[in-house]
Amino acid sequence: MSGTAQSGRGRVVALCGGVGGAKLALGLQQVLGPRLSVVVNMADDFEHLGLRISPDLDTVLYTLGGLSDRQRGWGRAGESWHFMEALAEVGGETWFSLGDRDLALHVERTRRLAAGQTLTAIAADIARRFGIAAQIRPVSNDDIRTIVVTPDEELAFQRYFVERRCEPTVRRIRFEGADTARLTREVRDALAPRDLRMVVICPSNPFLSIDPLFAVSGLRELLAAAGVPIVAVSPIVGGQAVKGPTRKIMDELGVAATTAAIAKHYEGLISGIVIDSGDVAEADGLALPVHATPTLMTDLASKVALARQTLAFGDRLAAQADR
Ligand code: GDP
Repeated sequence: MSGTAQSGRGRVVALCGGVGGAKLALGLQQVLGPRLSVVVNMADDFEHLGLRISPDLDTVLYTLGGLSDRQRGWGRAGESWHFMEALAEVGGETWFSLGDRDLALHVERTRRLAAGQTLTAIAADIARRFGIAAQIRPVSNDDIRTIVVTPDEELAFQRYFVERRCEPTVRRIRFEGADTARLTREVRDALAPRDLRMVVICPSNPFLSIDPLFAVSGLRELLAAAGVPIVAVSPIVGGQAVKGPTRKIMDELGVAATTAAIAKHYEGLISGIVIDSGDVAEADGLALPVHATPTLMTDLASKVALARQTLAFGDRLAAQADR
């Protein structure tokens, strides 16, 4: 591995979904600035009211741009809801909330896509306008759509997640279009071994946010060929998912909601896992290097602290591999 040489200064790639992943990505950006590339899930993108909505991408853009609403946990700070009120008045579909400021991004992205720009180019431009230091890269410019298979029907992801509030039982999750979707050149470049220090899998939902990235052919192979540590940060804190349906989905898919199960899910892919100090009892049972540290990110300091711990752990793994 070339890790020691790069320790402290090489590039880092973070694989990321929405809210949970973006928290760590923000911490990593504070430490790494432009040496960070964030490869983002876009399989929960959808068309709504004639607009292209990219929930995870926008969560990352708002979070790393310092624009996110921390109380609500999603969307932009200082948001107003006149559009939604007016939409309800005229009998429009209101199950998916779009704030007025947020709406501007969807309208503009939709316009640019129709004009032939790629999702990658649009994300890069918006990131620059938001003053984001890191490179924000959707995994693909091709359509991939997460479909949740329930006992009664197949639901497009946002219908399951927002409209049905994750109530239906999940039997299976599939990623429509992933078999033909291509990684972007920018994602390939980010994972090129030269100057690469490590890859971090953010504490995003493994099934809904990270699996769709690996469903795109070539990503797994690129990671294996990169020759750097690949470190996952567990989204389980004290035996619980911090927020969202991770725990429920793991139960329904027959996977215990434990850090050990997360490690197993990423088996063969990762070189080590960062787990919460509260889950340290599970460390002994894991067949790969483990680093235990507080992983609950409640403010900027805790995001930066977890980023530093994760990077130091990855550097140690690289140094061990070099010996
Ligand atoms: P989504 O696409 O918006 O649902 O977001 P992600 O998939 O990126 O993140 C959801 C996951 O983030 C959940 O499984 C949570 O357990 C995890 N998560 C949220 N906040 C934290 C945190 O502060 N620490 C850790 N370790 N995990 C977190």
